[in-house]
Amino acid sequence: KSKSEKARKKSRVDFTKIDASLLPTVILVGRPNVGKSALFNRWVLGLRLIRRREALVYNTPDNHVTRDIREGIAKLGDLRFKVLDSAGLETEAISGSILSRTTQMTGNVLARTQFAIFLIDVRDGLQPLDREVGKWMRKHAPEIHTILAMNKSESLDERGLLAVASGEAYSLGFGDPIAISAETGQGMAELHETLLPLLEDYVLQLPNGLPDLMNGSDGSSAIDENVENKLPLQLAIVGRPNVGKSTLLNTLLQEERVLVGPEPGLTRDSVRTKFQFEGRTVYLVDTAGWLHRSGQEKGPSSLSVLQSRKNLMRAHVVALVLDGKEIAKCKSSMNHDEVIIARRAIEEGRALVVIVNKMDLLRGQQNCIMYEKVLKAVPEEIQTIIPQIPGIPVVFISAMEGKGRLAVMRQVVEAYEKWCLRLPTARLNHWLRKVMSRHSWRDQATQPKIKYFTQVKARPPTFVAFVTGKTQLSDTDLRFLMKSLKEDFNLRGIPIRIIQRRMT
Ligand code: GDP
Ligand code: GDP
Repeated sequence: KSKSEKARKKSRVDFTKIDASLLPTVILVGRPNVGKSALFNRWVLGLRLIRRREALVYNTPDNHVTRDIREGIAKLGDLRFKVLDSAGLETEAISGSILSRTTQMTGNVLARTQFAIFLIDVRDGLQPLDREVGKWMRKHAPEIHTILAMNKSESLDERGLLAVASGEAYSLGFGDPIAISAETGQGMAELHETLLPLLEDYVLQLPNGLPDLMNGSDGSSAIDENVENKLPLQLAIVGRPNVGKSTLLNTLLQEERVLVGPEPGLTRDSVRTKFQFEGRTVYLVDTAGWLHRSGQEKGPSSLSVLQSRKNLMRAHVVALVLDGKEIAKCKSSMNHDEVIIARRAIEEGRALVVIVNKMDLLRGQQNCIMYEKVLKAVPEEIQTIIPQIPGIPVVFISAMEGKGRLAVMRQVVEAYEKWCLRLPTARLNHWLRKVMSRHSWRDQATQPKIKYFTQVKARPPTFVAFVTGKTQLSDTDLRFLMKSLKEDFNLRGIPIRIIQRRMT
C-alpha cells in the first residue's frame, strides 16, 4: 500500500514549480460577511510569511475597474493556485443593478476562472441572499466547477453541521458541502483533498498554459497529445451491492487481492490498486462509498455520499456495473440509485462505461429470450436516461468466469482516449465553416455568427464558441454543434461541453 502511495506522490504535480501565471484560478463567492476575506487572508498571508516573493497581490486590469477584486497566490498545503476574492462583485450583481460595466467586468473575471468556492455562513443557516448568489453563479458561470463550503463551522457541533449540510445547503444544488472555518483552519484538509484532483487535472492538461483566447492564438497546438493520454487512467468501479464489483476487480487485477463474498458491503475498506493494461497504468479509485446506499441524497448516511462524490471527481472513467440477472427479471434495467450514479457521472464530466455482469446466468436455451432482452434493453434505457449523449458504451460480461477483462478495458481505454482528445483550433475552424453552412437557422436575419471556435480544455473536451450578432446561439444551435462535433471527431459516448462567449 505504501508503495503505491509513494508512486502516486512521485507522479504528483509539483505546484511550487509551476509558473504563477499558469496556475488555475479559484474565485471565492458568497454574500457579504460569510468570510471570503478571512479565507483569502488565511491562504495568501500564510504564503507571505513563507515566501514573500510569491505573495504579492498583483494588479490586474480589473483592479482598476473595481478595487474590490483582490487576487493573490494561495498556498494550501502543497497546492498553489490563484485566488480571487470577489467581495463587491456579487453584491453589486445581486442588488439588481447589473450595470453593463459590472457584467463586462465579471465576464472578464469569470472567463479566466476555472473553479469557485461558494461560501455560506453555517451559523446563519441559508439566507435568501445565498440563494441569489447560487442563482447568479448558475446563470453567469455554469461551466465553473463550484465547491460549496460551510464557513464558521467551528461554532457548530457535528449534528448541527450535518443538519445544515444535508438539508438547506444541499438544496443549493452545488453538491455536498464541506465544513470549514476560515478562522481556525478546520476543514482545510478536506478542501485540499477536494481541490487536489481538480487542480492537478487542470494543470496536467494545460502544460503550456491557457490559450490566449482573445488574441486568437492557439495554446493547444503546442501540447503533445501522446503525453496527455498516457497519463495514468483513474478508473472507478461503481454499482449497487452484490452486482459483482469485487469479482470484476479481481478479474481486472488478475489475482485475488480483494475479498469477494455474497454479503453486501464486504469491500468496505478502501481499495486502491494499480494495474497495467496494454502498457498503460490504471489506478482503481476507491469505491467504498458507492457500496453503501449509493445515490441516497440526504439523511444520516450523507457522509458516505460525500466520500463517493470525491471519488467520482477523482475518476476519469466511471464503470457502472449492473446485474444482468436482475435486469432479466425486472421491467426496467436500472433502479433509482443506478440512474442517479449514471447521470451524476455525466454531469461531473466523467466518461461512463456501463457493464452488465452475470451474463452466464442467462445462457442456455430456456434463457435465450432473456439474454436477448437484456442485450437490447440496457442500451435503450441508457439512451433514455441520458439522451444528450448517444453511444455510451455497454459491455456484457461474466466476471465470475473471469471473462470480460479485455472487453471492459478496451471500452474504458477508448472512452478515456476520447475524453483526452484535443483538436487544433485551425482544424476546428475549418470544420466549423463547413458544418455551419449545413445548419438551418431559425431566423436568417438575426442569426448570430460564430467568429471563432476553440477547444479550451480536454478531460472532458470543452469548447468555446465566440459569438457576435444581436442574438446568442439557441439551444437548438448548440445541440446541432454538439452533435456534429461528436460525429465528425469520433466523440460519441462521452460528455463534451460547449460554452458560448459574446465578443464585443
Ligand atoms: P466577507 O464579507 O465575505 O469577505 O467576510 P469577512 O471575511 O470580512 O468576514 C466577516 C466576519 O466573519 C468577520 O468578522 C470575520 O472575522 C468573521 N469570520 C470569518 N470567518 C470566520 C470563521 O470561520 N469563524 C468565525 N466564527 N467567524 C468568521
Ligand atoms: P459486489 O458487492 O458488487 O462487490 O459483488 P461481489 O463481487 O461480492 O459479488 C456478489 C455475488 O455475485 C458473489 O456471490 C459472486 O460470486 C456473484 N457474482 C459476481 N459476478 C458474477 C458473475 O459474473 N456470474 C455469476 N453467476 N455470479 C457472479
